[in-house]
Amino acid sequence: MREDTVFDKILKGELSADIVLESEDFLAFKDINPKAKIHILIIPKEYFKDFNEISPTCMAKMTTFIQELALFLKIDKQGYKILSNCGEGGGQEVPYIHFHLLAN
Ligand code: AMP
Repeated sequence: MREDTVFDKILKGELSADIVLESEDFLAFKDINPKAKIHILIIPKEYFKDFNEISPTCMAKMTTFIQELALFLKIDKQGYKILSNCGEGGGQEVPYIHFHLLAN
């Protein structure tokens, strides 16, 4: 069995997080160490380790959720960056798929 990551603990309510938006399938919360004025992490509630593993179904739903998040934050017009670090070589520190949303 895999060990819980910090994001598992946030989902279980064992670790607090500054939640921005939640749906049945996804959670968006502020990055603890922001690299921009707006720096939010988006995770699916279903576990995938990284971008190599995420299912097309989850990815499709994630797209819709991130679009809703951008509208909710009113940054859809000004623009933003989305990125996912994949694997140690890609700079992924937390082995639970997540997307960074960054905007200034
Ligand atoms: P990555 O390098 O893509 O795996 O990014 C992991 C991100 O998670 C980093 O930007 C961290 O600042 C962030 N992070 C780690 N622990 C927490 C936490 N407890 N709450 C919010 N963000 C976190």
